[in-house]
Amino acid sequence: MPHNELLQNLLTVFFAVFGSLLGSFCNVVILRMASGTSVIFPPSSCPKCTHQLHAGDLIPVFSWLLLRGKCRYCQAPISWQYPVVEASIAAILALSFLKTGLNLSFIAMASKAVIWYVATVIFIRREVLEPGPYILPTMIFILFNFPINGCPFLSLPVKAAPLIAFMIGTIATFKQKYEIFPAWAGLSFLTIFALAPRMGFYSAIIILVPAVLSIFKPDAAEKIFAAMQMAAILAMLTVV
Ligand SMILES: [Zn+2]
Repeated sequence: MPHNELLQNLLTVFFAVFGSLLGSFCNVVILRMASGTSVIFPPSSCPKCTHQLHAGDLIPVFSWLLLRGKCRYCQAPISWQYPVVEASIAAILALSFLKTGLNLSFIAMASKAVIWYVATVIFIRREVLEPGPYILPTMIFILFNFPINGCPFLSLPVKAAPLIAFMIGTIATFKQKYEIFPAWAGLSFLTIFALAPRMGFYSAIIILVPAVLSIFKPDAAEKIFAAMQMAAILAMLTVV
């Protein structure tokens, strides 16, 4: 194996492990954003028995598998969301590194994908009653894009992104509560912003089809919308 290839493999594993730890932190952000508590304090504990968790309970993915998805202290089931988010963020960092190499683009690519992914998970969990989880990530998303693509607003589809996002939010709220507007508009904006410069047609389909469907079948539309976001994130990391 050539020297460079070995180094590349070692770095891929390193970023996957770092990504799983970041995923563990993202789980805390997702949960505490729902309850409105601090991200740093208090230390992690079992939501059922409130027993404080120790290092052995907090190894990303593996702790959940070894404990077979149950709390070590009270045997209460632990959501599969934890290992899935940890494994996904691990994959996002590894794929970002393989796509960009070790440079500024790596930070931008990985940050965009992580932000987009976390916003989608918050959407699936139906924590959509506040615009906060979508507005701030969208602004950070735009900032991280500059090092890779320069000014993204020079591209015509991206110029139209705010208008299209507003339209999608309006369609999705047509027969539903106004509270879901920021989630649909925010995620639509992220999709256009990330994909449109090179895959304008696909980004339009990904958001428009579920939005129209949401008028007739809101629950199914939400799941399809989220699944398409996940597919679009994967496309950004591999194809686009
Ligand atoms: Zn417990």
